[in-house]
Amino acid sequence: MHARFLVIGGGLSGLAAAIRLARYNDSVVLLEKHHRVGGLNSYFYRERQLFETGLHAITNFADRTEKKAPLNRLLRQLQISRDQLGICPQIKSEIFFPDRETLIFDNEFKTLESEISDKFPNSIDGFHALVSHIDQFDPFTGTFPFISTKEILDNYLKDSLLTQMLLCPILYYGSSWKNDIDFSQFVIMFRSIFQEGMFRPAGTIKDLLDLLVDKLKIHGGELRLNSGVKSIVTNNDKVTHVVLTDDTEISCDAVVSTIGLQETREITVPSEISESVERLSFVENIYQLSTVTHPRLPADRTIIFFNNSDSLKFEPPASLVDYRSGVICFPTNFKALDQKKNFEVRTTHLANYHLWSELSYDQSDYKNEKILLSETSLQQTEHYIGSFAEDIIFRDTFTPLTIQRYTGKKEGAIYGSPIKIKSGKTRYENLFIAGTDQGFLGITGAMLSGISIVNQNILAGS
Ligand SMILES: Cc1cc2nc3c(=O)[nH]c(=O)nc-3n(C[C@H](O)[C@H](O)[C@H](O)COP(=O)(O)OP(=O)(O)OC[C@H]3O[C@@H](n4cnc5c(N)ncnc54)[C@H](O)[C@@H]3O)c2cc1C
Repeated sequence: MHARFLVIGGGLSGLAAAIRLARYNDSVVLLEKHHRVGGLNSYFYRERQLFETGLHAITNFADRTEKKAPLNRLLRQLQISRDQLGICPQIKSEIFFPDRETLIFDNEFKTLESEISDKFPNSIDGFHALVSHIDQFDPFTGTFPFISTKEILDNYLKDSLLTQMLLCPILYYGSSWKNDIDFSQFVIMFRSIFQEGMFRPAGTIKDLLDLLVDKLKIHGGELRLNSGVKSIVTNNDKVTHVVLTDDTEISCDAVVSTIGLQETREITVPSEISESVERLSFVENIYQLSTVTHPRLPADRTIIFFNNSDSLKFEPPASLVDYRSGVICFPTNFKALDQKKNFEVRTTHLANYHLWSELSYDQSDYKNEKILLSETSLQQTEHYIGSFAEDIIFRDTFTPLTIQRYTGKKEGAIYGSPIKIKSGKTRYENLFIAGTDQGFLGITGAMLSGISIVNQNILAGS
């Protein structure tokens, strides 16, 4: 079989890349190893009820009028209308360092500015200078060596508590580096989270994925599920074909891989030696309650980013899970969201992949630790937001092993490797990397990555 363009991986970046390719070309095939698309952001059913696996909130909120905003550009490129997506803005979110300070932010940047002015008056001028630096910085061009954001923030703000508070949401929603983030990545995330804001679609993630699959099919693209790629075969400087796990061979003119840089190298033939890098892994808990609202839980908070240690540690912990910091999310607390779903609380913490991996040799130990994790995180969350344990009707826990199993992401590292290939180019002239390891993270980032890699490397030359 021959396809002109192959896209490997049916996550959000692969779907977006395939739609762009199919809009301008015949013979585009998207290969996904699972029976369902979505990758890190997908869904599952329990007793016929749909649960989202990854959706807390989507970054890069923008009003309809902001034609040049990343969200509106993304929707135009995919020919999706805002009404089809249904945009429900966050209510407000909080950065919460117990016994020290709280900062509220929402989709109006001035809310964060006035919080900083009230609570860190000595740093407000430095914060404004930092924002001008961010506004003038172009994070998309050039290949910079790693620039420490922590050092830049400390220099501008002169308050390590404020540095840590601003870093907390940004590291949790987009850093693949330990205890810091490269400044160009920080600029992208600062704009996406604080200057633009967060929202969720009115429907479920399944509705969004269905919409994307429909778009692909309308443009004549083909989606092949249960089609894992076993190898990407090269000759000299070009990919000639891929081999699927059932040994089907598909020759092609070009390949866009969204499965990760190292993951791609490992299946490339002849094989390439890939340096091993430290990755950050997470655990995620879902608690579903019996009612659509809850008398004790906050109705006006969308996400709470917390840290209760003296200095925020964003690194693989020495134990299975680090409960000292994390994210508490209320996926039904969005404006204009039709409240049909039961109230949910989700929690995220840093985890140690290697310890979870050792544990998995004994299934009962693994199961018991998952139960303990769900319980410990619940108690900590109740301590911060009020009690709700008695109202839980369903709970689930993902470890780094769950994430690795369902997405193929090495070590279950949601944000991939700290080595990013911004251009998407590899040493093979017709093999490109998009998605997490290209450098744009999260749902919007993944889709923008798929689009921009195709636009720059394939459509621009055709
Ligand atoms: C628990 C959790 C919560 C999250 N919350 C949010 C959030 O609230 N907001 C947000 O913006 N982002 C969130 N994210 C991150 C976001 O989901 C990801 O950044 C984004 O979806 C990455 O998309 P991707 O296409 O780059 O990668 P992936 O989603 O990993 O897609 C890669 C795809 O490739 C497939 N694949 C792997 N190997 C092969 C192979 N050999 N052959 C064929 N197919 C293969 C995988 O099955 C997968 O479908 C969350 C992630 C998780 C896990």
